[in-house]
Parts: sequence; C-alpha cells; structure tokens
Amino acid sequence: MEKTFAMVKPDGVKRGLIGEILKRYESKGLNLVAAKVIWPSLDLLQKHYEEHKDKPFYNDLIRYMMSGPVFAMVLEGDNAVKIVRLLNGPTKIEDAQPGTIRGDFCTNTTFNIVHGSDSLESAKREILLWFPEYANKI
Ligand code: GDP
Ligand code: MG
Repeated sequence: MEKTFAMVKPDGVKRGLIGEILKRYESKGLNLVAAKVIWPSLDLLQKHYEEHKDKPFYNDLIRYMMSGPVFAMVLEGDNAVKIVRLLNGPTKIEDAQPGTIRGDFCTNTTFNIVHGSDSLESAKREILLWFPEYANKI
C-alpha cells in the first residue's frame, strides 16, 4: 500500500486545524499509520527542505517552520502521494481553489497550512527523516 508524508504546519496547528485537516484525509480514504506533534529543529528542517536552500524564500520558510509545533503524519492508501497533494491544493495561493485545504484556509504562499510529499521518492525520504523508527516498514 502506498505511503506518503504529510504535515500540518505551525500556522495550521496554532489555528486549531489539525482535526479538520485529518478529517479530510481520512474521509477521502487514507489511513493514518503514524503521527506526532513535534517542534522541528533547524537541522531537521534544513534536511527536509534541502532542495530549496538556494531559493529566495528559503530563510522565511525555515523561520516559519520553526515558529511552533507541527503535526507530522504518515498516511497510507491507493495513490496516497497524489491524493494528499490534490487535497492540499497547489503551492501558489492564487491557484488554490476553494475545496482544497489551502484554497479554504489560507491567503499566503508561504504560510500555507500543510505539506505533502511530491513523489514516491520524496515520500520515502521524508518518512525516514521524520519517523526513523519506520525504516523497516516502508
Ligand atoms: P509544496 O510542495 O507545495 O509545499 O511547495 P514547495 O516544495 O515548492 O515549497 C515549499 C514551501 O515553501 C511551500 O509550501 C511554501 O511554504 C514555501 N514557498 C514555496 N514557493 C514559494 C514562493 O514562491 N514564495 C514564498 N514566499 N514561499 C514559497
Ligand atoms: Mg514540496
């Protein structure tokens, strides 16, 4: 069964949206197989967002992601990677339609409530990074 990594970012946790977001994933048919609330370290975030280290928004992104706890999870189901990305909505906020999590709950491209792995390879890497205890389960 396909697994993906998803996360409610600090703004989503502060706004009390964990339940609403998890309900959308579960209602669609994905199952939670691991979850934790964690205040991520700089080291973890630098590894997680390594691909963006030269982008102009990188410092703002890291500061935002270190601003409070996140709700990190592993979700399982058919097409889990793609489905989480569809439920989350596109990165650019002006493209995020109502009905998606970003389209319904945020107005800004940086402070965008949720993360979802963008491919099977990223999912594997991110699950191992955030849940190293899952090494023999993916
Ligand atoms: P995601 O996979 O949809 O989360 O998007 P990316 O992997 O491209 O970017 C990672 C995160 O960086 C996004 O979720 C946003 O929080 C932030 N971000 C991405 N692109 C931009 C941008 O063009 N401007 C700003 N300010 N932030 C961005
Ligand atoms: Mg991404």
